[in-house]
Amino acid sequence: MRVAIYPGSFDPITFGHVDVLRRSLGVFDRVVVAVLVNPKKAPMLDVDARVASIISGVGEALPDLADRVDVRPFSGLTVDACRELGARYIVRGLRAVSDFEAELQMAHMNHRLAPGIDTVFFMTALEYGYLSSSLVREIVRFGGDPAGMVPPSVAARVAAVAAAEVAPVRVR
Ligand code: ADP
Repeated sequence: MRVAIYPGSFDPITFGHVDVLRRSLGVFDRVVVAVLVNPKKAPMLDVDARVASIISGVGEALPDLADRVDVRPFSGLTVDACRELGARYIVRGLRAVSDFEAELQMAHMNHRLAPGIDTVFFMTALEYGYLSSSLVREIVRFGGDPAGMVPPSVAARVAAVAAAEVAPVRVR
């Protein structure tokens, strides 16, 4: 069985992530979405909320494929998570040239740490090339509608979290 791990922050999961996940399921039998717990970052959604929103979002967006997807929180090295989960492949998405340099460096480093593990890249679908979790966070924090950028249940969740945060300062 070909198992891959798709690591990331997913704060929140977007249709760009979903697109990469869907394509990776055309190649791998199982994909574990590994949600990074990074003590250095203060996420908008805590790790439990990110895991829950990935499960609900994938169920909505990829109902026929969801049974081949696992969602797990992880901290530490991605290659250690791979070993623990029996995954020989790391899935990452590429949007633009700007992603490439950092992704290449990370892929080389992971290969050096664990030569038996390969990173596989999927190019984003053109319509999601502009999409990032950070833009979605910014939009909802200013009261914008993220419909069409994230699955419906994820849109509701981030909107609720943003509404509970301190109100943004607006120019009058
Ligand atoms: P990280 O903090 O590890 O970059 P992200 O959640 O931002 O985590 O992204 C996880 C992976 O998904 C990365 O490989 C990133 O390039 C990819 N990705 C993010 N947004 C998109 C998108 N719109 N299209 C394709 N890939 C994407």
